[in-house]
Amino acid sequence: MNFEQLGLAPELLRAVAQQGYTQPTPIQQQAIPMVLEGRDLMACAQTGTGKTAGFTLPVLHRMHSRQKRRGTIHTLVLTPTRELAAQVGENLAAYGQHLPYRSLVVFGGVKIGPQIRRLRQGVEVVVATPGRLLDLAQQGALDLSRVSTLVLDEADRMLDMGFIHDIRRVIRLLPPREKRQNLLFSATFSREIRQLAAGLMNDPVSVEVAPENTTAERIEQRVHPVDKARKRELLSHMIGRGNWQQVLVFTRTKHGANRLCQQLEKDGLQSAAIHGNKSQAARTRALQGFKAGKIRVLVATDIAARGLDIEQLPHVVNYELPNVPEDYVHRIGRTGRAGREGLAISLVSADESKQLRDIERLLGAAIPSEVLEGYQPSASAQAHTEARPQRRKPAPRRGRPQGGRRGRAASGNRG
Ligand code: AMP
Repeated sequence: MNFEQLGLAPELLRAVAQQGYTQPTPIQQQAIPMVLEGRDLMACAQTGTGKTAGFTLPVLHRMHSRQKRRGTIHTLVLTPTRELAAQVGENLAAYGQHLPYRSLVVFGGVKIGPQIRRLRQGVEVVVATPGRLLDLAQQGALDLSRVSTLVLDEADRMLDMGFIHDIRRVIRLLPPREKRQNLLFSATFSREIRQLAAGLMNDPVSVEVAPENTTAERIEQRVHPVDKARKRELLSHMIGRGNWQQVLVFTRTKHGANRLCQQLEKDGLQSAAIHGNKSQAARTRALQGFKAGKIRVLVATDIAARGLDIEQLPHVVNYELPNVPEDYVHRIGRTGRAGREGLAISLVSADESKQLRDIERLLGAAIPSEVLEGYQPSASAQAHTEARPQRRKPAPRRGRPQGGRRGRAASGNRG
């Protein structure tokens, strides 16, 4: 199937071609015809499946074909995070470039004034996180009473993040549900999601696609060979110099997690450990602190991390490599999302070369390796890395991580 067969407007087909897409992804093949028909939709799809184009393309098409007026908000997209809102906004701008509609992305943590001014100039599509949207509504800065399409993107995450009441408040500002087309995207269809959908949608069709299984390809991975005794020092250094605010660090043992946590605290980094010996209350407290930004480093064992509802962190560090290679894939799956930087760093000492080999065999590729200046491993450790691709670089500076977004790009940086 190609995009032409989906029946999208020529303006949209042109934009799609400009993106270089030749074939709709499975979620697009399933979702686009349903949305074009005007049906409500519950789609089980994760980031990376092409879900954003799966709703932005047909929504834009319908606005265009129904000759929606400019200056009225017709479409509202709610997202859990600023990053996702920005990403959806970028998609709308790209796919809608040949159409006259204007979209605006609004989220909290930035000045509200410019958002109000843009709204006054008139927009037809608003992409928003719920809190800021409600602030704007309360200030009378936007009118949602003409919204004919509502999209809840990553609805499961919105519920996880406690947005349910805000979502309900937003919905009260919209026309009644019979007068809207409602699209809900979620990685899971939990009971809570179904409950939310029940009160929101008109006889929805469900579509589902398997998640992409190549998480690892979307994450920049790096190995830093280092002596075992200097791992803690290097970790503190990287967190400080990179100004990392939220780091998930994996250790192999509970004892190791506790000890590392204490050492990091001594280095002035607010840290907490979670593992099987901690009570549920202690784990919840640690997790809440981490999410709220009070705890900068969460040190976890593999088992403890399994049930954690945190994902898509900017930085995951393997302080010690796992014995089971599959655990590595689970660990690094906590970082990165399509098109976003996600950095998974492994501090690897000489005694871990077997684990590293096993992991690389599972991945089917070598992880780019980089010796950081000042942290060169001693001679015996170096022997193990000699046969591997390597580059030498100073330790990371403040701000964004260095190198490309992916391992591939990073290895091209070899200097
Ligand atoms: P999403 O799941 O919406 O975050 O999209 C994941 C990535 O796939 C984004 O980088 C999109 O630009 C890209 N993408 C979306 N649709 C297609 C397509 N039909 N062909 C190729 N890439 C696509």
